[in-house]
Amino acid sequence: MHYKYCPECGKKLIGKLAGDDGAVPYCTDCQRYWFDSFASCVIVMVVNEFHEIAMLHQSYISDEHETFVAGFITPGETAEQAAVREVKEELGLDIKRLEYAGTHWFDKREQLMHAFIGYVSKSDFTLSPEVDGANWIALDEAPSRMFPDRPGNTQHILYRQYKSKLGK
Ligand SMILES: [Zn+2]
Repeated sequence: MHYKYCPECGKKLIGKLAGDDGAVPYCTDCQRYWFDSFASCVIVMVVNEFHEIAMLHQSYISDEHETFVAGFITPGETAEQAAVREVKEELGLDIKRLEYAGTHWFDKREQLMHAFIGYVSKSDFTLSPEVDGANWIALDEAPSRMFPDRPGNTQHILYRQYKSKLGK
């Protein structure tokens, strides 16, 4: 988000030089800069010991494609904590091992996605109200259920990373 008005007092912001960053929106009343902001989110590909992937159906996102666990990082929380929390909330599963898979810019929503592979023991899901359904899907079948592969699609980045770890 690029600020034009001060989120605190509503005054129109001016461009003020801020070192290497060049002109940055600045509130002359509050005397503070308002740097462009964006949300930090986590996305977790949850896999079990049989190399099956948890695919979620969330109709508020898509009826056609299935999602991974994802959510916003809340203030005061690390990306790792958010990943563990979201998997527990959405699927009711405890992560045994969390593997970091880098950050990826999701241009459609202007979100920085912190990607993880979350290893769990296979068990039934306890779904949150925001998840309409979830299934364990065989590795090779998963891509056909994901959103189409395109630059910035973190699902496929995670999938490829996991597969290459398996030597496939
Ligand atoms: Zn202000």
